[in-house]
Amino acid sequence: MLAPMRVSPNELVDVKCCIRPFRAQGCRLDAEQLGDTLVIHNYGHGGSGWSLSWGSAEIAVGKAMSVLPRDIAVVGCGIVGLTAAVVAQRAGLNVTIYAREMFSRTRSVRAFGAWTPSSRIALTEPAGPAFAALWEQMARISWRYFRACLGLPGQPVEFIDSYSLSDTPPRNREHAPATSSFAATGVPQSEGEFAEYDSLVRDIVPSSTNLAAGENPFGTAYARRRSQMHFNFTGYGHMLLSEFFAMGGKFQNRDFHSPADIAALPEKVVINCPGYAARDLWRDQTIIPVRGQTGWLIPQPEAHYGLGYGGVSLLSKSDGVMVMHTDSTLGDMEGVGNSMELPDRSNIEAGLAIVAPLFARMAGGRA
Ligand SMILES: Cc1cc2nc3c(=O)[nH]c(=O)nc-3n(C[C@H](O)[C@H](O)[C@H](O)COP(=O)(O)OP(=O)(O)OC[C@H]3O[C@@H](n4cnc5c(N)ncnc54)[C@H](O)[C@@H]3O)c2cc1C
Repeated sequence: MLAPMRVSPNELVDVKCCIRPFRAQGCRLDAEQLGDTLVIHNYGHGGSGWSLSWGSAEIAVGKAMSVLPRDIAVVGCGIVGLTAAVVAQRAGLNVTIYAREMFSRTRSVRAFGAWTPSSRIALTEPAGPAFAALWEQMARISWRYFRACLGLPGQPVEFIDSYSLSDTPPRNREHAPATSSFAATGVPQSEGEFAEYDSLVRDIVPSSTNLAAGENPFGTAYARRRSQMHFNFTGYGHMLLSEFFAMGGKFQNRDFHSPADIAALPEKVVINCPGYAARDLWRDQTIIPVRGQTGWLIPQPEAHYGLGYGGVSLLSKSDGVMVMHTDSTLGDMEGVGNSMELPDRSNIEAGLAIVAPLFARMAGGRA
């Protein structure tokens, strides 16, 4: 029997806003020579940076190893940079991370923290089949690494049951006919342009099952359940940082203003992981902001599950109950081109009002 979640706005302790670093071509993983410095880029992971972090780290470190360095620099200490640093150490390299913010202050900890490897990672056309193959490689590598983190103290990674609920029959999303396109404007114009790669890894990821009325604790007409992999930010960050420092890693607080600043570092091999900030730092206009936000209710360990209903997603993790409230008519287009990084509490409160009747019904025992 599931415990109802407490979703009163009184229990809302934080609202965090974040920008997804989206690139139509998919994340950037090429290498560039800047004078005597080899820079391997590792940024632009859209809504999938957590999920693809290990895979893209292995690819970036593989490129770094091609020149047999002993010491390397990693720029950035978000989930992408920190993971690349740990993978480089495991490959035997001495690593210094240079970053403006330490992990706990980066955009990465303002995400949702679920295994969503093809969430706003690319557009089908500009990315092409080569990126689809690279994506599959990254997703499979990451899945393997995350599986090795299951069951560790502090539950940095865990599977949580998540319920997809609706009052009307669930339908496959139909994309409205597009009147314009990325090719014409340089910005995604419709949800149908976003790449959908999940079917490539269907063999390893749990799928969902329909629940019969007697199995549905929420009293909605339709319910599906699936087990989804999740990351607890605090425990996961602690795990990675502990390994990084135990392996002799160094952290230097630095604010770079141009590629020349990076070329001036003593390390002559650099893995460049600045996330959305690459737009300014590298003058990379291929990065398109996609705004999103999460609300946080106090931790509720007695209600350890997630659900989606009416555009609201809830997820109860050890570090709190996360809330996202999106406009389901916009889908992946929500937040595209929006770089306003200001939290909007009223949007989260409106979301809580949508799901509150579900829990009132559970508490009343009428489910
Ligand atoms: C609402 C929301 C929900 C999301 N949910 C998920 C999810 O469930 N699953 C998932 O896989 N992904 C999710 N994402 C996407 C994920 O958060 C990002 O892809 C990821 O955080 C990108 O990480 P990063 O390390 O590249 O960048 P960041 O976290 O932005 O880190 C960048 C680092 O570079 C440093 N830096 C930047 N510029 C400079 C500079 N000039 N000088 C020095 N240092 C610099 C910063 O200080 C920081 O340390 C979500 C995103 C949003 C917005």
